[in-house]
Amino acid sequence: MDKKRSCFDGYAAGDTLMQRYHDAEWGVPCRDEQKLTEFFILEMFQAGLSWKTILHKREAFREELDGFDIEKIAAYGPEKVDELMANPSIIRNRRKIEGMIVNAGCIQKIREEFGSLSAYLWHFTDGKTIPEPIAVTTDELSDDVSSDMKKRGMKFVGSVTIFSYLQSVGIIYSHPKSCWRYEADHAERFEGNTYKHR
Ligand SMILES: [Zn+2]
Repeated sequence: MDKKRSCFDGYAAGDTLMQRYHDAEWGVPCRDEQKLTEFFILEMFQAGLSWKTILHKREAFREELDGFDIEKIAAYGPEKVDELMANPSIIRNRRKIEGMIVNAGCIQKIREEFGSLSAYLWHFTDGKTIPEPIAVTTDELSDDVSSDMKKRGMKFVGSVTIFSYLQSVGIIYSHPKSCWRYEADHAERFEGNTYKHR
């Protein structure tokens, strides 16, 4: 097989799951409600850990969290929290687990207000994908989304976490020109897109 250059080559070396994630998912502009929800939950659990750790627990999370079903997660009670805390296959962090339940409730409210999480997220950029260099960790857009989410009572939504989330779902685009995905995504169409302070 032709060995293409990937921007994950350095830190995902030898990790098939990470390479597959890079090749098929990371940075693809996403409007799929289910995937937006899934990545949101995974990103908030990532705070302070490596994405690699989270990615390798993704299927365990899916199994334990009812397929990332927001309605079900919002209704989790203390027994479910204890059950999750006793499960070594996921991230056993009580604050994150409780934060996830709070966030699920907030996402329900966002859906009532905007129709979907997708509509809410993309309204910040008027539906545009904003290019940012791969080495950047926050920008004005992630600052604004983060502070709006905090106002809504959401947890683990710091600007670094949100920037990383927006990169994963292609609202921020960070594959560099040297990465094979750049051409595959026709990413030159994103050049010149800028985030205007609302
Ligand atoms: Zn790339």
